[in-house]
Amino acid sequence: MKLGIVGLPNVGKSTLFNSLTKGGAESANYPFCTIDPNVGVVTVPDERLQVLGDMYQTKKIVPAVIEFVDIAGLVKGASKGEGLGNQFLANIREVDAIVHVVRCFEDTNIVHVDGSINPLRDIETINLELIFSDLEILERRIAKATKLARNDKAAAKELGFLEKIKAHLEEGKLAKTFAEVADEEEQEWLNSYNLLTYKPVIYAANVGEEDLADDGASNAGVKAVREYAQAENSEVFVVSAGIEQELAELDADEKKEFLEDLGLSESGLEKLITASYHILGLISYLTAGEPEVRAWTITKGTKAPGAAGKIHTDFERGFIRAEVVSYDDLVACGSNAAAKEKGLVRLEGKEYVVKDGDVILFRFNV
Ligand code: GDP
Repeated sequence: MKLGIVGLPNVGKSTLFNSLTKGGAESANYPFCTIDPNVGVVTVPDERLQVLGDMYQTKKIVPAVIEFVDIAGLVKGASKGEGLGNQFLANIREVDAIVHVVRCFEDTNIVHVDGSINPLRDIETINLELIFSDLEILERRIAKATKLARNDKAAAKELGFLEKIKAHLEEGKLAKTFAEVADEEEQEWLNSYNLLTYKPVIYAANVGEEDLADDGASNAGVKAVREYAQAENSEVFVVSAGIEQELAELDADEKKEFLEDLGLSESGLEKLITASYHILGLISYLTAGEPEVRAWTITKGTKAPGAAGKIHTDFERGFIRAEVVSYDDLVACGSNAAAKEKGLVRLEGKEYVVKDGDVILFRFNV
């Protein structure tokens, strides 16, 4: 699963990406500084893993991961090829969801490409490029469907559908707010177009340190972003990329202290990673034993054999049953043996839908 970090130049994307991955992406005070998309693998914070690690007395803890791509260089005109724009747009097409970084911090030393701080204008600039790019895709589809429509009823129906979405986008609206999907067939079509403006979005409002304690409530820009996002059903997270960069340099104890000084319990990035995981419809089930405690990523709704297949395809093929205890029950009982005694370890079959926090032992044939 991949998330793309997008936004105008100089809004803090690379800074955020660097603190996410503690990697080596370059951050500099000029546009187009990061031309190649940078990919970083980020662990998903999950306090349950350490608790289970202590219970099973294991040091090997393997958290779930999620991939972030720093997609630099989207500018006004990108869909027309400005500033390598088409390449960036193609990179966005490959991600599962978008983190849209919006500059809400004031800093006269850092140039804004449009000369002033105006988060709403920035969002609209980026979204308009995404819309233009989607329109191109739709036009190609329309040309194809038009040719087929004379002899093909399904193509004729799809043509009508395509025209409706196109009209929607031409009003400057995002595909995700298109509400006229009539049936499953249309839904499948819409999914298959892979439109940029149909992807889930999280807005990361990048604020100065002074706006962190009240979660951006007194920052007019953040307020505007929140209103905008609400209208399209997207989430907003307030972060300070600058602070996150400092936090990324610290060890766990120092970090906790620094956060307390700022009046925070959790870093903005942790919240952002957790939210990204949820927005992608992902959950974690856990495996626990002496060799290791581990979180495994599955899509909500995955059944037991599919979940087993994440560990090894043999587990899926030879699936017999799953021994499942919920994390809360396991922790309340203190050990797997105690949970068994209380009848809280269930035997589940092929149709069992795995839940977030299930601690599972799979039984399988080889
Ligand atoms: P990008 O072009 O969107 O990737 O932006 P960068 O991450 O390279 O940041 C551009 C400039 O803004 C750099 O000089 C950063 O140090 C600075 N910057 C990023 N985030 C913040 C922030 O939260 N506060 C302040 N004051 N500066 C920031």
